[in-house]
Amino acid sequence: MAICKLCNKDKKLCKSHIYPEYMYKHTYDSHHSYVEFNASDNEYNKRRSKGIYENLLCRSCEDIIKAYEDYGKSILYDEVKPYIDKTKSGYVNKKYNYNLFKFFVLSLLWRASICTHTGFKSANLGKYEEELRLTLLNERETPVSLYPCLIYQTYIEDNPADGIFMEIYPSKSKYDGKTVYQFIADGLFFFIAVGTTSKKTFPEGSSISPDSLRVGYDQLTNIKSFNDLFVRVHHQGKFSVYDDQA
Ligand SMILES: [Zn+2]
Repeated sequence: MAICKLCNKDKKLCKSHIYPEYMYKHTYDSHHSYVEFNASDNEYNKRRSKGIYENLLCRSCEDIIKAYEDYGKSILYDEVKPYIDKTKSGYVNKKYNYNLFKFFVLSLLWRASICTHTGFKSANLGKYEEELRLTLLNERETPVSLYPCLIYQTYIEDNPADGIFMEIYPSKSKYDGKTVYQFIADGLFFFIAVGTTSKKTFPEGSSISPDSLRVGYDQLTNIKSFNDLFVRVHHQGKFSVYDDQA
């Protein structure tokens, strides 16, 4: 028995995934592993075994998170990825469940913060961790300006960058100094502001709004806010690891 991170009750805990298992389906090579890029100095890219999990949640809280994951899958994997691959253009959905999809995205950020795995050590939400816990546990609606985010399906030339992961990495908005987290999971780039952030940080608004869900399409190396990270990774010679996976 131990304390469940979501309901705070003393329960038997499950092996909880940080990112859902389905996000790793493109990454299984002959070693059932994948390469995770790392932009920090003095750290190497890491070959990781499939998925990353930790004893975090009780069974009933796993089910809460699973409902968010299932909805995320139905949108991102059944609609967004096939649409963008066919049209090579951004995806817009005006009839989606804003709250459910946002809970899914926030659950990725929250899980990254609560877990102790080295791949997520840069994610520390501080006081926002408790706020997100209550949001996810009680399905509290979050206004569009709270935790706004951008989502892109990234490509490497003509191929979706599926199977590409990059460690979660914090940066500061140059407009208001607030923290923004960036990560890539299975080729999907997420840029999520912590708390409420200046509108200037999101000049085109949040990808997730009550009116519509918008997922962009771009080359992996074109993601503006990510460019410096790629330059760093490249300078550190870490892209060579990617070559052996191709
Ligand atoms: Zn629980």
